[in-house]
Amino acid sequence: MGGLGSGRKRWGYRASTVEESLTLEISGFVMKLLKSTPQILPNGTLNQGDFSGEFGFHKDNDGLLMWVYVDYIDIIRFKQTYPHFGGVRWWFACPSCHRGVSKLYLLPNAPHFHCRTCHHLTYRSCQESRNVCAQLDRRIRRWLKKLGGRQNPLYPFVEVPDKPKWMRWETYLQICLTISALELRREQVFVAEARKLSEFLRKSL
Ligand SMILES: [Zn+2]
Repeated sequence: MGGLGSGRKRWGYRASTVEESLTLEISGFVMKLLKSTPQILPNGTLNQGDFSGEFGFHKDNDGLLMWVYVDYIDIIRFKQTYPHFGGVRWWFACPSCHRGVSKLYLLPNAPHFHCRTCHHLTYRSCQESRNVCAQLDRRIRRWLKKLGGRQNPLYPFVEVPDKPKWMRWETYLQICLTISALELRREQVFVAEARKLSEFLRKSL
């Protein structure tokens, strides 16, 4: 990473214009904390590209936390590890998977801070189901073409055309059944994806 030349570094965050993400880096925030007095915890603003927000620190019974407010307020906790050569290493606890990570990202289409793995998993599962849907769409279109029809891209439901005069009823009914089975499968993939997405959002609150 780095060397893009466009990412400004200040207050421990960096926004990459390539990935259009807002990145929080642990090192910058820890530096800020170490320089502060325990009575006055640091706070500040985040301004980069399309993103602008605020952050601050707070202590509660479970220890130190950081709040970051960009589109929503995210609460980020910290983890510490103690390397055998001494000292202490700080990590963000990813708000979704709770693993210790050195960077958290906010993306334009995913307005909560998560680690790279969590963002990537959602992105990939969306991609996969989108591919499956596209494949099913293609198969539906192919069958419709056999009946001399086509799917109206602005209309979500398939309108099966009347039986072509030259086609046997048996064949026609078989194709109709195939099309409705494909439609049902497409619906199931869509619903499963919606469920996965709402589960992901629930976990990130
Ligand atoms: Zn994570």
